[in-house]
Amino acid sequence: STFADIDLGDALNLNIRRCKYVKPTPVQRHAIPISHAGRDLMACAQTGSGKTSCIFQSAPRPPRAPRMAFPLALIRSPTRELSIQVNHEEAKKFAYQTGVKVVVAYGGAPINLQLRELERGVDILVATPGRLVDLLERARVSLQMIQYLALDEADRMLDMGFEPQIRRIVQQMDMPPVGVRQTLLFSATFPKEIQRLASDFLSDYVFLAV
Ligand code: AMP
Repeated sequence: STFADIDLGDALNLNIRRCKYVKPTPVQRHAIPISHAGRDLMACAQTGSGKTSCIFQSAPRPPRAPRMAFPLALIRSPTRELSIQVNHEEAKKFAYQTGVKVVVAYGGAPINLQLRELERGVDILVATPGRLVDLLERARVSLQMIQYLALDEADRMLDMGFEPQIRRIVQQMDMPPVGVRQTLLFSATFPKEIQRLASDFLSDYVFLAV
């Protein structure tokens, strides 16, 4: 199967050609159609499976102006600074010439630069849990209109003790409930704690193991 089979739209298809990806990885082949169908998804996928680009390719196209009204969120573990930079690069590649504005916010880097970027508007916010809670406490970001949420490396986030932060973040998205949010949960493993997160955050979800 090819990327053309997945129907990603012209701008995204062009960006995938620019990335020189020849064919979708198994997680992309299965998860993207499920996500495009609007379903919640629990995906067991390892680093290296192509899951990051899968998350960006699955994201609904944000409406035009006004920005900030419909940010999309990707929350991921801060395991390796380098991998967060890779996320950023990947996000920029997919957003290229699509009008989608990506902001990356993670700890260990000056918050002021991230705040200034956020002020200019954001469609997709890539954030680590600690830094996102910080932004929420400063009331510099609102999550109430989030329509698409991807939690990546969920097992790592729990291992690092971020469950309270994650629950707080998702709670903010649900207060008040403003409609349907699509949620994708990615984890390399599927222990009890992740099963509990899945049943708390996802509704009527598809389970995918690749
Ligand atoms: P990840 O699983 O998100 O950690 O990414 C794995 C690596 O594979 C990244 O460096 C991506 O740029 C690359 N990648 C993602 N999708 C594809 C694809 N369809 N074909 C070839 N490489 C890919």
